Amino acid sequence: MNHEQFNDRNVVENGYFLVDIEDYPKDGWSKFKRVVQRTFKGELFVGLWVVLREMIKFDIHTVSYPAEKMPIGPRYRAVHEMKRLWESGTERCIGCGLCEKICISNCIRMDTRIDENSRKEVSEYSINLGRCIFCGYCAEVCPELAITHGGRYENASEQREHFILYEDMLTPIDQFKAGKQQEFEGFGAITPHEDERVKKTPLAY
Ligand code: SF4
Ligand code: SF4
Repeated sequence: MNHEQFNDRNVVENGYFLVDIEDYPKDGWSKFKRVVQRTFKGELFVGLWVVLREMIKFDIHTVSYPAEKMPIGPRYRAVHEMKRLWESGTERCIGCGLCEKICISNCIRMDTRIDENSRKEVSEYSINLGRCIFCGYCAEVCPELAITHGGRYENASEQREHFILYEDMLTPIDQFKAGKQQEFEGFGAITPHEDERVKKTPLAY
């Protein structure tokens, strides 16, 4: 059959298509049989069996969020944290301002003052989480490993601008005393056995 014959098949001169109705079901029983034949194919039972097999395993792959949460990677960049010095428990931040300068979203605001002991201290510090893109530059540039990213990723707000303050980020002193402060394991963090490596070969890395 050539292409034209193929296109003209079953076409009569007045333009109507001829439908072959020879095997159309004539009565109700025939129609019912046709429906059953077309509905219940073997694949349907295969699919049902697969679902049943997975159900009776009771191997659940979902979590009931927010009651349950999936573990996140140690390098996940969520809401920031401020760390304390292990030795004294005082704040690590020296108010150098590098994090504020490097922030590409311009969302860090900080101020410092000289305290009564003529030492510089951070008087104000806030991050606008509505602008922050969690790039991690602030944590990377911090020379004291003072600002890091934590794992708290639930920071939804009704306001476009919502700020997190220094006091909210700083490790609470009771948690610090309980040894719950965790070091940042992301880029720029101290590596394990850093002391030995530095004392041995300063230029080894
Ligand atoms: S993570 Fe990036 S955008 Fe957010 S405060 Fe730090 S430097 Fe700025
Ligand atoms: S958090 Fe780090 S980079 Fe930012 S002001 Fe404090 S010491 Fe400097």
